[in-house]
Amino acid sequence: MKILRTIPEIRAAAVVAARTSHRTVGLVPTMGAFHEGHLSLMREARKNNDLVVVSLFVNPTQFAANEDLSTYPRDEARDAALAEAEGVDILFAPEPAEIYPDGFATTVHVAGITEVLDGASRGIHHFDGVATVVTKLFGIVRPDVAYFGQKDAQQMLVVRRVVHDLNLDVRIESCPIVREPDGLAMSSRNVYLDPDARAQATALSRALDAAHARHDAGERDAAAIRAAAIAVLEEAGITPEYLELRDAETLAPVATTERDTLIAVAARVGAARLIDNHTLRGEA
Ligand code: AMP
Repeated sequence: MKILRTIPEIRAAAVVAARTSHRTVGLVPTMGAFHEGHLSLMREARKNNDLVVVSLFVNPTQFAANEDLSTYPRDEARDAALAEAEGVDILFAPEPAEIYPDGFATTVHVAGITEVLDGASRGIHHFDGVATVVTKLFGIVRPDVAYFGQKDAQQMLVVRRVVHDLNLDVRIESCPIVREPDGLAMSSRNVYLDPDARAQATALSRALDAAHARHDAGERDAAAIRAAAIAVLEEAGITPEYLELRDAETLAPVATTERDTLIAVAARVGAARLIDNHTLRGEA
């Protein structure tokens, strides 16, 4: 596995070479601190492409001033070993100045779906940062396929919107959420949890399971399903930043779960801000 840090290097040495020999390129964008969720994306990319590129870039523009950019877990040597073990060909690990050189002045802004859930909670800069860096990575690596986790369900919709609206020639693949045995969604931020908070954090997936169970039992009233999830959080002493049911495609608010519905939650648990979601399958 090669570790490359500059745009000319990755373009010339790897991606152009792959394209001219008609090999397919799969890209897995990440911020590092790898866990099984990241590795599942790499495995999917490895299975289906000739050349696998993993980007490792803690993107400063998607963090707000009061968020955890400076403390975000970083261990490039460990990440490189894990990626290599998955058969990744290239780890693209640029410095911030490589991605945002002096004079950088462009922002990719997606309207509408970025204004709710994490967009409302973290601020509009968050998805502007995500959309801009992902667009840049697509321009730099020019992948045939890019792999994202359903863990970040709203991010997935934002990326799909960018690709559709800007006619980008890349296919987006969605990979299922990888969980700890007790249900907690894997996240680089789980390392912030002390033992008490770690135990408390299972309430997020349990709340989503409770909502899912109500839906599976035939309940279609969004408020009733939401109440079942809120009750689990309350019992665990968690007040969420949000817990909402929204149309799984448009993120519009819903009164019923007749169409596919995303139930998404964000909450501070101990020192971590955690997110999780389920999709409730509708009949329509
Ligand atoms: P991050 O490094 O947190 O930006 O995540 C990089 C990619 O891994 C994103 O597409 C995430 O959605 C995905 N990802 C993060 N956690 C999980 C998980 N538990 N299961 C599946 N994919 C995940």
